[in-house]
Amino acid sequence: MSCIPEPAKPEAKINLLAFDRKAMEGYFVEIGEKPFRAVQLLQWIHQRGVGDFALMTNISKLLRAYLAEHCEVRAPEIVFDQRSSDGTRKWLFQLDGLNRIETVFIPEEGRGTLCISSQVGCALECAFCSTARQGFNRNLGVDEIIGQVWAAQNALGEQGKITNIVLMGMGEPLLNFNNVVSATNLMMDDFAYCISKRRVTLSTSGIVPALDRLAEVTDISLAVSLHAPDDELRNRLVPINQKYPLKDLLAACVRYVGQDNRRKVTMEYVMLAGVNDSPAQARALARLLTGVPSKVNLIPFNPFPDAGYECSGSQAIAGFSAILQQAGIVTTTRKTRGDDIDAACGQLVGKVNDKSRRHLRVHTAAA
Ligand code: SAH
Repeated sequence: MSCIPEPAKPEAKINLLAFDRKAMEGYFVEIGEKPFRAVQLLQWIHQRGVGDFALMTNISKLLRAYLAEHCEVRAPEIVFDQRSSDGTRKWLFQLDGLNRIETVFIPEEGRGTLCISSQVGCALECAFCSTARQGFNRNLGVDEIIGQVWAAQNALGEQGKITNIVLMGMGEPLLNFNNVVSATNLMMDDFAYCISKRRVTLSTSGIVPALDRLAEVTDISLAVSLHAPDDELRNRLVPINQKYPLKDLLAACVRYVGQDNRRKVTMEYVMLAGVNDSPAQARALARLLTGVPSKVNLIPFNPFPDAGYECSGSQAIAGFSAILQQAGIVTTTRKTRGDDIDAACGQLVGKVNDKSRRHLRVHTAAA
């Protein structure tokens, strides 16, 4: 009986979007090339948005042919591209057969903020968050995280410059630690996106041990989803608080900023009517933050079906803000942006893949 061998599977190409500078240098050394090739590749890919090796003219023909055979530059595919009347733009990306994520660009006077996702869904169960309702699917790879930036920059072209990046989309970035760190390295790399560490912000619900690890490897800006001035309420709103209570979380924030007295942690505080928005809670928050180098960003709650919460009224928000400011805490209130496409987005995703309704908040800090 003859045994017919299985046809050899074509070798999967290496996606160069997955490599930060160190990994790219490692790759070129591995294939017998000089490490400086890594810088050339990074510049072509991230600074010029080029994914076609044939166009990389300062690289020898031989190496270009090798790269074309073994490598690729593949960002997640854009499924929808929506523009809001206020200039906010949102992309829905297809990652693989099942998974989709959203990325938002918010243009403002003198800056353009890109809000990116770090996971498909989220494993944390914050009570007021729509992503929590869809559960957790998987971590994004480095290529999928930086691919959002690459694709957004290419789609924006001359129409918008990304000056700030916030990891405030779907997912808990500190639970996808290594990939998030590599991707943020690329955002800040002089040969890639060259964005200053003050303009790359990671938002976390407060995974304390990961915060300490983060301080060891990077100094990107930090935002913490605080949302409550005491453990009892925070345990309910942000259940990870049961594991890492406020005292530990705030101590980790102090450690994160270290000795540099110019640095501050942004405390995000979603305004929920009748839940966390009273003057007494504002005073408690001011006391809690004494000695923590921080500023507060009040986020009007963005409602979604069956949320079970309502946004605080504008007077309650203004009063809350005034109490914090009187206590000497720099306080801003986020302006909700892209409302029209935000609503449409929920429906759109539902139409495409009704098993995974997802909804991304589109907010930006008021200047
Ligand atoms: N997991 C990370 C980052 C994602 S959420 C974190 O918890 O920080 C980004 C911010 O949006 C967080 O502060 C989050 O608490 C807030 N948020 C979540 N749901 C919201 C909603 N429905 N309305 C307003 N802000 C919301």
